[in-house]
Amino acid sequence: MTAIILDYFGDWKTRLLTCPTCGWTGTFREGLTEIYDSLEDCECPGEHGSLARPMLAILPFPTLEDSRRNWASLPEAEKAHVEAIEVSLNAFERLKLRSAAALPDLPDPVLDLLWDQEGDEVVLRLGDREVWREPVRYEAVWRFDEVLALLREKYGARLRDLLPTPASEYHLYGDKLWSPGAVQRTREGLRLAWEAAQQTP
Ligand SMILES: [Zn+2]
Repeated sequence: MTAIILDYFGDWKTRLLTCPTCGWTGTFREGLTEIYDSLEDCECPGEHGSLARPMLAILPFPTLEDSRRNWASLPEAEKAHVEAIEVSLNAFERLKLRSAAALPDLPDPVLDLLWDQEGDEVVLRLGDREVWREPVRYEAVWRFDEVLALLREKYGARLRDLLPTPASEYHLYGDKLWSPGAVQRTREGLRLAWEAAQQTP
C-alpha cells in the first residue's frame, strides 16, 4: 500500500485514516507519528505482531511561501512562528557577509581564524580581534562553506584554518550527524592548500 499524502492546509486533523491490514481507524494524530525536518508521518498503531506497521499517511510541512499563500487559515500561534522565522531570515539577509571586500585587511602572514558564537551572532575572530559578525543560522555548515569561500577570496593562501569553537557547535552542526566530519574535511583541505602554497616560492 502507499501512504496518503496530506495537505497541511486541508482537513487532516479530522480526516479518518484506515489501516488496510488490521482495520484500525483514527486521525493522523491518533496514529504513531514521527516528526522529521520537512514532514511528519503516521504509522498504524494497531496490532501487527512482528510485521512492519503500515505507513498510513505523510504530512509535508509547508514552506514559508506555502504559509503566506494560506495565511488566513493559519492559527495565530503558527502565524507568530512564521513571522519570527521571517524576521530572523530578513535580519540574516540584511547583515550577512556578501562580499570579500567587506572584510577587514589583516596584515598577519598566517591566519588561523575562529568561528565563534556570541548570543545569536556568529563571530569570526583572529586572536582577540573581531573579523566579522552576522546573525547565526541553524544547521549552518552551508553558511560555514560560503563564508570560508569569501575568506579565501580576501586572504588567499594566508588563511590556514577556520576552527569552530565549542560555543558555535550547537548551531553549526545541529542534528546532522555528518556535520562535524564535513567541517573537519573542509578544514583539512584548507590546511593542505596552505601547505602547498608554502612550497611555492
Ligand atoms: Zn494496522
